[in-house]
Amino acid sequence: MKLVIVGGVAGGASAATRARRLSEDAHIVVIERGPNVSFANCGLPYYIGGEIADRTKLLVVTPERLESRYKLDVRVNSSVEAIDRKSKQVRVRELVSGREYEESYDKLILAPGAAPIRPPIPGIDLEGIFTLRNLHDMDRIKAQVDQGVRQAVVIGAGFIGLELVENLVRCGIPTTVVELQDQVLPPFDKEMTEPIVETLEKHGATVLLGESANGFERGPDGLAVRLKSGKALPAQLVVLGVGVRPESKLAVEAALDFGPRAGIRVNEFLQTSDPDIYAVGDAVEVRDFVSGDPTQVPLAGPANRQGRIAADNIFGRAVRYRGTQGTAIVRVFDRTAAMTGASEKTLRRSKRPFRMVYVHPTHHAGYYPGAEQMTLKLLFEPERGRVLGAQAVGGAGVDKRIDVLAVAIQAGMTVFDLEEMELAYSPQFGSAKDPINMAGFVAAGLLRGDHPQVDVAALLEKPTSQRPFLLDVRTPTEFAAGSIPGAVNIPVDELRSRLVELPQDREIAAYCQVGQRGYLATRILRQVGLRAVNISGGYKTYGLVNPQSDRENQVLKAAITKASC
Ligand code: FAD
Repeated sequence: MKLVIVGGVAGGASAATRARRLSEDAHIVVIERGPNVSFANCGLPYYIGGEIADRTKLLVVTPERLESRYKLDVRVNSSVEAIDRKSKQVRVRELVSGREYEESYDKLILAPGAAPIRPPIPGIDLEGIFTLRNLHDMDRIKAQVDQGVRQAVVIGAGFIGLELVENLVRCGIPTTVVELQDQVLPPFDKEMTEPIVETLEKHGATVLLGESANGFERGPDGLAVRLKSGKALPAQLVVLGVGVRPESKLAVEAALDFGPRAGIRVNEFLQTSDPDIYAVGDAVEVRDFVSGDPTQVPLAGPANRQGRIAADNIFGRAVRYRGTQGTAIVRVFDRTAAMTGASEKTLRRSKRPFRMVYVHPTHHAGYYPGAEQMTLKLLFEPERGRVLGAQAVGGAGVDKRIDVLAVAIQAGMTVFDLEEMELAYSPQFGSAKDPINMAGFVAAGLLRGDHPQVDVAALLEKPTSQRPFLLDVRTPTEFAAGSIPGAVNIPVDELRSRLVELPQDREIAAYCQVGQRGYLATRILRQVGLRAVNISGGYKTYGLVNPQSDRENQVLKAAITKASC
């Protein structure tokens, strides 16, 4: 068996090493356009910022190591230029010498990845405008930073864009991020990204949302980034982080099938429309694990797993790729945002029925020093309660909760299973009722009808005249520091004795800070026959949905605190 692999980084290197473990006899050729194989793309921003100080740490495995340990025939600085499916050969060009030759294959794996998008806007090719994909790009950006950059602009506030912003700011460079959408981290639901905007601004970055670059010009101070709004930003460094596009040229020219999202179409065994050619990683389109629809998710975990599975299938083990969930995480300064499965916006887009809850627990027992609050949003089926997706934003412990929920989604678990999950607890690590259990309790209670709830966004969409009676059950001090407009304050501890103050013939929407006292209030009111619902996630969620009003309230709160000191 002769296996040829195009691309020697995440998917390609995984496929090659797995193939060797399955067959000592196979001739395995890895052809990589760049000078390195198996480098840590995900670490590149942190070398620019200095957090990773030693560049060699980014070279996870060298070509020499792949040759000596895995007996792989590794050809770096070599590009596959064409595939001849009939004769089962690829044409390879050695980039240093320019020599071209044909290489035959029995099976071929395409792992060419995805290239950063360079939108065709005027001036895009000017010096000082970069993208970040490999070590070469990283070295060029780092060299520019080391030369002295007074202002930087990052175009695109996705994962890589924000990692760059953080690292440039860490280098002491005033940095502006420009994002076309009205939120950062577009795969997330907007309200979940508000704490990320807050932390970016707190650390000195400028965030321009709903804004885009129309062109680049040479200016007196390096570059001028022209924005849609007419503004111009001076910069000596511009990095584009506006997404990636599958490297599809080879597959297009070989007339392989493509999916609706421009990725190479593969079946569940990662076979393309040619049964002797497999494809993996950022270049392919796979099945979305939750929706079953075609999806294209450029993440390292799926690429590595797919590489392994393609090799399994080639060497006689029939292994199905289950689909991609889109489990992702990013740290932005002191905040972490993570998600798995479907988001509210993808569910709405596909018109799939769902319910959702927000909880705002601390990552470990509140009484133990250092507890950090997180916001966890859980999306689930309205009937059976099967978990469809989750997002979390906060500090410590966000990673663990999203990973648990990623497993729950894979296992087809329901919110009732989350109630029962037994997770490791001592005060330094969690709570006897872990945030996962809490989300399960709230979601399961909702489905059982224990405490009907209303989402803040849905509530605010209604005209004021059609809204329920708003009942704030927090303390007067909390109420004074900010409340939902029109709310009446009756603290939960006084509720039983002040029932007469409530309307008997109107729906009552109760809320507290995070949802817990609101839940208790709802239970009290429903048991005396009142039509009460709980506002999901309480005032904290209101603050995420209405960041402006929340910021105004923060100012007010600070003033009240100062006045009462
Ligand atoms: P790649 O790893 O990109 O490898 C493809 C290789 O194929 C390239 O080296 C390319 O030179 C080579 N190639 C292409 N065409 C040819 C050809 N014709 N001939 C020969 N060689 C060819 N993902 C995460 O999950 N978490 C993260 O934190 C994260 N951070 C990232 C940060 C950065 C800066 C970047 C750039 C990516 C990050 N990713 C992250 C994404 C992750 O790196 C990719 O999803 C993953 O590397 C994709 O693997 P792949 O094998 O498909 O492609």
